[in-house]
Amino acid sequence: MRHPARLLIILFLALAALVGPASAAAASVAPQAPPSPRIRGEPERGEAARPRPDETPLIRSVSLSTRRPEQGRTVEVRVVLNRPATLSGEFRDQSLRFSQNADGVWWALLAIGMPKAQAGVGLETPGGAYDVSITAASDDGETDTAERTLWVTGRSYTPIPFDPGPEKRHLLDIELRTAEATRMWEMFAQGTPDPLWQGMFWLPISAPSSGGFMVARSYPDGTTGFHEGLDYATAYGAPVRAAAHGVVALAEPLGVRGNAIYIDHGAGVFSGYFHLSQILVEPGQAVEPGQLIGRVGSTGLSTGPHLHFEIRVNGYNVSPWQWLTFEFP
Ligand SMILES: [Zn+2]
Repeated sequence: MRHPARLLIILFLALAALVGPASAAAASVAPQAPPSPRIRGEPERGEAARPRPDETPLIRSVSLSTRRPEQGRTVEVRVVLNRPATLSGEFRDQSLRFSQNADGVWWALLAIGMPKAQAGVGLETPGGAYDVSITAASDDGETDTAERTLWVTGRSYTPIPFDPGPEKRHLLDIELRTAEATRMWEMFAQGTPDPLWQGMFWLPISAPSSGGFMVARSYPDGTTGFHEGLDYATAYGAPVRAAAHGVVALAEPLGVRGNAIYIDHGAGVFSGYFHLSQILVEPGQAVEPGQLIGRVGSTGLSTGPHLHFEIRVNGYNVSPWQWLTFEFP
């Protein structure tokens, strides 16, 4: 019984003697390759072998403000390049719009949609894993790509019945809502490419919030939807102010939104102000944060004087609260 075991040990020692010095010699001869300049959060699928020192990739690093966002949130993508290149990126149906900050870091925003598509436009976003892909292309034809995965946290919702009453029930008509939403969606795609705002967004009204973002609602016709912004119930005629610097993209009476204003803040970001009694700005007008743009009313799908305030990123509704408490980029 002991004999074969001893033989194995001898064999092992012999092998170690053969392999050990050989690998040590190889290590001392190999060129001293510097560590890859690429910063990686975690190993990526299909990752190529470490580049040789003369082949540094265009993309030095890619980071995301979070890897585990909730539905209805804004996510910031930051990219550092080793050499000048043009950046593009995709997340589901969203084309990322990259801008460069003063430190030379490139950034773009993407929106995690709500669990359900809105009145027939946009994609619904169930919880799960989604890829963000980034491509850098240099003038001399060199390209580099990077992919990151986002894990979206899903939630279950219990819809709260919402009935605007017999006089406004016709505004819940799905065809009307879809037509209006589709027109807005087309406008969001035409926004100013470069960011126009700086810092955190301002609260557009001095009133406490009375209705939450992404609260699920069920309507009298049996359909369900999600509240797309924050509501602020307050006195009729109360001043409504621009949340950030931008250009007025829309200022007119709409069916569901009532007297509505959308401000284009650039880089795919818009803010919306609905149910106004008065509109005090015109399309094409530049606005400053805090500037008076309208007055609270109850026009459109509204049951009492309040401001509905919403933020869109790449067309999708995202949490306005995040923009009021966090600085993008
Ligand atoms: Zn609302």
